[in-house]
Amino acid sequence: MSLTELTIIEAREKLKKREISAVELTRAFLERIIRLEPQIGSYINVFPEKALEQAERADQRLARGEEGLLTGIPLAVKDVISIRGLPTTCASRMLAGYRPPYDATVITRLEEQGYVLLGKANMDEFAMGSSTENSALQTTRNPWAAEAVPGGSSGGSAAAVAAAECLGALGSDTGGSIRQPASHCGVVGLKPTYGRVSRYGLVAYASSLDQIGPLSKTVADSALLLQAIAGHDPLDSTSVSRDVPDYLGGLDRGVRGLRLGLPREYFIKEGMDPEVEKAVRGAIKALEAQGAECREISLPHTPYAVAVYYIIAMAEASSNLARYDGVKYGFREPESRGLGEMYRKTRSHGFGPEVIRRIMLGTYVLSAGYYDAYYRKASQVRTLIIRDFQEAFQEVDLILTPVAPTPAFRRGEKTADPLQMYLTDIFTISANLAGIPGLSLPCGFSSGGLPIGFQILGNYFEEARILQAAHAFEQAADYHRRRPPLKTTNSNPKQISR
Ligand code: GLN
Repeated sequence: MSLTELTIIEAREKLKKREISAVELTRAFLERIIRLEPQIGSYINVFPEKALEQAERADQRLARGEEGLLTGIPLAVKDVISIRGLPTTCASRMLAGYRPPYDATVITRLEEQGYVLLGKANMDEFAMGSSTENSALQTTRNPWAAEAVPGGSSGGSAAAVAAAECLGALGSDTGGSIRQPASHCGVVGLKPTYGRVSRYGLVAYASSLDQIGPLSKTVADSALLLQAIAGHDPLDSTSVSRDVPDYLGGLDRGVRGLRLGLPREYFIKEGMDPEVEKAVRGAIKALEAQGAECREISLPHTPYAVAVYYIIAMAEASSNLARYDGVKYGFREPESRGLGEMYRKTRSHGFGPEVIRRIMLGTYVLSAGYYDAYYRKASQVRTLIIRDFQEAFQEVDLILTPVAPTPAFRRGEKTADPLQMYLTDIFTISANLAGIPGLSLPCGFSSGGLPIGFQILGNYFEEARILQAAHAFEQAADYHRRRPPLKTTNSNPKQISR
């Protein structure tokens, strides 16, 4: 088996036993990236020298027997997470030339555990989108089918994991951006509880919804990545001071006796691809066969989730993105006379059309005359959505749903109609509105050969239980072992970084 096919857990074993070196492993990924990137386009930037330096240090650490959770493990990081001294673009022209002067807390934690950074992954501009087509910098293709989107906004991270261009990745999830691309690319993606992982150094999109989380080939790999990044951070006042359980240690507990809820509102026929419904029902049966008890539940305010989300997310985005004014960060329009014109031109030319649309809508819903009608109303309905979950978790331990109504759609299919794009988030955004954790994992393929995922939602800080159920399902299935049929081509190594 080639080194790039390993899981993180397997690679860790081999590194520990000194069967392979971190440098060897890192080189295998750098070579694969060079050969595959012309067809996939997962990475905005690759850092071969830094990666090999980190790998050498990892080998020294392994030789001393002082390894951490991720020593020598090559990962990709979504380009919305700050790394000191390296370009952080958020796939926007607005951040051209910007290099953060500090590390995000998740990066400090990965460093402590000895990870190797391969590069920064492509995404929708400022994490706004569901297909990665809003990247101002490049296109990412779905490794399973070049004409399909990888999902978004963490499409680069998901495609990199699926194409084995890294062992695992970090993404961010504001309304589904880890879980949905994971589902479309046939990998595992976990959005932790709001406050479980520090957001310090994550470029803010909608601060009350954003969370960083892992993407990986298997559930155990995601458990390990979460173990490394979770925990209280004094630098993020919304991070919660609460012990981090042993996620890996609890994986084998199985699902016997677990009560699983199937929300009626998530199994609607309208707009749902029958192949998705079939695959998700198959997953439910498989869990029942292992002793889980399934029952129908209701989350009655689900029909309002898309509207509520897009009001709240846009309102918060319009405020967060006010800081890009041509003075503090990256891009400034050179051809302007006077401060007002500089602001105007910088913001009109630096942001792409979707970001501008959201800033305008966000400003509108917060404006004096409309605040009560939109933002306040949306916040009230958000509370009702939170209550739906609280009531449901009185009755059940976990909730099972589809991740998206269809498998990955074709590139260009929804770009002309933003509303159609927003509607694809219907099954993922409620978890962000409520702040609860959710995981997406592969449970089938469409007749066209595209992966299908299902979602497991849990109560606050119940990541361990979600991982336990997901792991049980994975053990009985083989979807996570299937790899996209990729032919590698050679390219000029210079082409992989901008
Ligand atoms: N697709 C959603 C949006 O466009 C979610 C994005 C995200 O989770 N970052 O806002």
